Amino acid sequence: MLTRLKMVMKSLRRNFGIWVCKRLSFSDKQMAKYAYDNTVLYQTLYQKAVEKFGSIEKIPFKHLPIVKKATLNNFMPFDLLSKEKEKEVFKYAETTGSTGNPTPSFYTPKEFNGSYLLSRLTPFQTMLNDVIADNRRAVCGLACGFTIAGLSFQQILDKSGFLTINVDARNTIAPPQRVARLISRFKPSIIVASETDFLAWMKILKEEYVHQYEEIVNTLKVLISTAELCSENRSAQISKHFNIVHIDNYACVEGYFSVPCPCGEKHILPIYQTEVLSDDLKQSLEFGKGRFAFTNLFRKSTPFVRYLLDDLVTIYPSQCKYGFKKSIIPHGRYELSVKLGNIRYGTRDFENILFHHYLFGEYQVQIYNNKIVIEAEDYLYDMNIPIDKIKQELIKRFKMPVQLKLLPYGLIRDYKKIRETKPMLRLTDNRIFSTQQIPKYL
Ligand SMILES: [Zn+2]
Repeated sequence: MLTRLKMVMKSLRRNFGIWVCKRLSFSDKQMAKYAYDNTVLYQTLYQKAVEKFGSIEKIPFKHLPIVKKATLNNFMPFDLLSKEKEKEVFKYAETTGSTGNPTPSFYTPKEFNGSYLLSRLTPFQTMLNDVIADNRRAVCGLACGFTIAGLSFQQILDKSGFLTINVDARNTIAPPQRVARLISRFKPSIIVASETDFLAWMKILKEEYVHQYEEIVNTLKVLISTAELCSENRSAQISKHFNIVHIDNYACVEGYFSVPCPCGEKHILPIYQTEVLSDDLKQSLEFGKGRFAFTNLFRKSTPFVRYLLDDLVTIYPSQCKYGFKKSIIPHGRYELSVKLGNIRYGTRDFENILFHHYLFGEYQVQIYNNKIVIEAEDYLYDMNIPIDKIKQELIKRFKMPVQLKLLPYGLIRDYKKIRETKPMLRLTDNRIFSTQQIPKYL
């Protein structure tokens, strides 16, 4: 009875949180007007449309120019900063700028704390409270430089009551063996890291801390990830192998736009207006598969209005029992996607089938004119890998012959070395008509 009452209270609190978010938000047109009135970028970008329609208020929302990453090339970071919030902002971060143009992102203290409040909307919170009650040690291994991933997740851990050590990522102070040693001594219940780093640390622990390994795995309850694409099946394999809950977050420096849910979906927060755009960016739909753009209806310091994040995504209506209405599946970066027949695929589409029956390490998918070649590292060294079954599922989906080569773990990426790049380039189109654009920085 008491548990049921607690659940009802939590659900009411979540619904109240969603309601507050909505009440505090602008409408899409109000946000466009705010951006136009307060920033150099939108003032410049909307000028022509304002002349055509007479005023910013008269422009239909979908006639507003889309902010592409290339658009930002002609502007300096402060051109995106709202005049009104100039004195309030206290943090600046920017994206990798893999297409050559880093996206600036400013935060007021209120906006920065907001990511914590939004993270509380996830129904995973109840489970996290139980984990803290038992063992509140946390290891946070997300990057802190340039981005805010590390900072904001540390804030979430701090405010949730965890005792946290920050080991950073892709950093000379944090080589994988040092992090593994820390985990063996600190014995956290929760690790926050990209899947790639997590798997590397756990492998080193298994090999070099043979006697403690079982206890370390038994103590560990949760892996929280972000900054790396992870399909449902890869996530499920990780959860199964380590007997943990894996919470995978799809968000970015520009916005904390989705929350992971125990129902298995990633829900779009109501303070974001999302759009799915066609290849040529001319058609905009609420639901479907296409190029992802969003408008943050809440954040004023750095307004993002019709901002083309440019991942290939599927957005669909949700029937979630926790009250969320919309969900998103990221398929990978749009500029790295490939077209087979009439269908556009991202890295996730290949990964999800590859990991359906097995936990691999790093992998590479190569598309040729007449075949798909996949090299995948063996993470588990299980004698009974269902290679044929996996191949058949890939052939059925992509309607092309498939070669699947198994490599020892660490051959594609040396897991004992510091990671130099984001694991983004897992899918390569070698065909002459490939439209892939390989990023300058990873
Ligand atoms: Zn849900």
